[in-house]
Amino acid sequence: MKKNKKSALKEIRGVEQNSHLNKKKIRKNEKDISIDKYVEEIRNGNRIFLSKSITLIESNNITYFKKGQEILRRLLPFSGNSIRIGITGVPGVGKSTFIENLGKYYTGKGHKVAVLAIDPSSSISKGSILGDKTRMEELSRDENAYIRPTSSGNTLGGVARKTRETIFLCEAAGFDKILVETVGVGQSETLVESMTDFFLLLKLAGAGDELQGIKRGIIEMADLIVINKAEGDNMNSAKLAQKSFQSALHYYPPKKNYWKPKVLLASALNNKGTKEIATKIDEFIKLTKSNSYFDKKRIEQDKYWFYESIKRQLETSFFQHKKIKDKLPDLLSKMENNKITAFEAAENLLKIFEAKKH
Ligand code: GDP
Repeated sequence: MKKNKKSALKEIRGVEQNSHLNKKKIRKNEKDISIDKYVEEIRNGNRIFLSKSITLIESNNITYFKKGQEILRRLLPFSGNSIRIGITGVPGVGKSTFIENLGKYYTGKGHKVAVLAIDPSSSISKGSILGDKTRMEELSRDENAYIRPTSSGNTLGGVARKTRETIFLCEAAGFDKILVETVGVGQSETLVESMTDFFLLLKLAGAGDELQGIKRGIIEMADLIVINKAEGDNMNSAKLAQKSFQSALHYYPPKKNYWKPKVLLASALNNKGTKEIATKIDEFIKLTKSNSYFDKKRIEQDKYWFYESIKRQLETSFFQHKKIKDKLPDLLSKMENNKITAFEAAENLLKIFEAKKH
């Protein structure tokens, strides 16, 4: 009787209250769960444990964070067995609609799909470009799909690092297609490119000005450009856009991996083009695996993150150093008043940092 009353109360209180209660409960229990248990459950594909371990990795609490890192270290040997696909495009281009199609296409073929996101706005403000709307409703109900909203962090690099670690955890849990989404606003694409095997750029057809305002670097990164919303009245301009991108691609230097980037049309709303896109991705993977560029790229990415980690660690310990903190305002004001050059000011602080080691 008592039990019933309790659950009825919970229902009346509503979802928010419930999730708040649950969260607390998970936290309290989390301390008692051993790392062995995490590893075992994630290896068995337990998504509750997967979610919990991602939360640990994202945590700012040092104890939780360290636990997350240890779980990750233990699972690393079981990671790597997936195809990692980066998807970018401006808000409204149709990313969620397309990802839902591609995700369902893959689960229909027996794959396990994880959808992750790097939302550049999450490090700038509390708001988020990617996370606010109800997204990928059907895919989120698919038991072979796992959708994780973007993590938050103080810096975009920090957010990206957590996403990269989340990829490894998802792979260890048996997900073999990882889709990483980002909004096309610059640096976030470079970060997505630094953790994926294949990079897909979604575009809309304009009035013949497709190549204007699009950064050269992004086209260079793209393995496939997809003109979305190619349907009805839009069809002609979509075909024109396809042609102009195709001819523009000829002017780019050939890719080291011998892949020739393609331009395809799609209508995500009508689930058109999904299969062709998946086929192109397969072709790319086949080619790069056969000429070993698939592995080479992953090794390059490891190196990138190795150097990034060192840089970030050094930067943090540099600016947290007491003497440097004390000296910094004075040097900045001298710089503002043209009493010292930026180079001299930097040298000054670096000497202090160097001295710390001796
Ligand atoms: P995102 O912001 O890039 O994730 O874009 P969404 O997937 O949320 O799509 C933005 C809007 O465009 C939604 O209203 C979609 O229904 C619509 N949309 C997506 N793909 C297509 C398409 O191929 N054709 C048309 N006409 N609309 C589409």
